Amino acid sequence: MFRVRHHNRSARSEETDVVLGRRQIDCVITPTETSNNMLTLLFDIDGTLVRAGGAGLMAMKQAMKDLHGIDQLPDVTVHGRTDHSIVSDLFAPLPIEVDQARDAFTNRYCELLQQTLPKCDGHVLPNVVELLEYLSGREDVSLGLLTGNMKRASDAKMDYFKLNHHFAYGGFGDAHPHRNDVARIAKEAAANHLGDRFIEGNVWVIGDTVNDITCARSIGAKVVAVETGGGSRAELVASDPDLIYQTLPEPSSFLERLLG
Ligand SMILES: [Mg+2]
Repeated sequence: MFRVRHHNRSARSEETDVVLGRRQIDCVITPTETSNNMLTLLFDIDGTLVRAGGAGLMAMKQAMKDLHGIDQLPDVTVHGRTDHSIVSDLFAPLPIEVDQARDAFTNRYCELLQQTLPKCDGHVLPNVVELLEYLSGREDVSLGLLTGNMKRASDAKMDYFKLNHHFAYGGFGDAHPHRNDVARIAKEAAANHLGDRFIEGNVWVIGDTVNDITCARSIGAKVVAVETGGGSRAELVASDPDLIYQTLPEPSSFLERLLG
C-alpha cells in the first residue's frame, strides 16, 4: 500500500521489538534502505498535457499535398488513436498503397510539424508545467509518455512546449495501429528504465479519451481521466476511470489522490 511520504525520508528509522524464540531483543531497522514505493505515471500528450492547435492535421495535410498532390484529407478521427492507424485511414480511400507510401509520408509529416507548431494556437494545459516539475523532483515518482504520436512527432511537440526533459521513456504510435500495444510498450519501457524499482501494481495512465482508459486497463494500470481534450465527461465517466478531473489539479493534491 502507498503512504503519503515526506521528502526527507532517509533520516527516518524506527525501533522494533523482535522476538527470537524465547528471547526478546531490541533492534533498529532503517526501512528506507529496502522500501520501494515507486509510482509510474504514463502521460498522454494531446488533450492531456498540451493542445497543439491543429498543428498535426495541418502538417499531415501539407505532407499529402507535397508528396501526392492531394489537397483534401479524408475525414478521420484522430483523438486517442495512433499515428500509424491515422496514416492508414488517410490512405485507405486513395489509389496509393499505404505500406509503400508510409515512410516518406511520416518523414515529411514530422519535418512539417516543426514548422506548423509555431503557426498554430497551441498551448500547455492548466497546471501541467507545475505538476510535471513537482513530480520530476520526487524520487518515488517516474514519468513516462504513452501517446499515439510517433516518436519524432512526440519529440517535436514536447520540445516545442518545453516539456520533453521530464520524460525518460515512453510508448509511441509509430508501428502499432492499436493503443493497447503502445500501452504495453510504455509499461515495458518503464520496467526497463526502473529495473528493481518498478512496481507492477503502481502504474497509472493519465489521458483524455476513452482509448486512454481502455489501454490502461489492458495493462492492468489505474487511470486518471481529464476533460481537457477529446473525450466528453459522459463518455469518460461511462468508461469508469479511477479519477476524473476537469483539468489536471495542482501538484500536491494530485499526488495525494494517487497515493490514496
Ligand atoms: Mg489525447
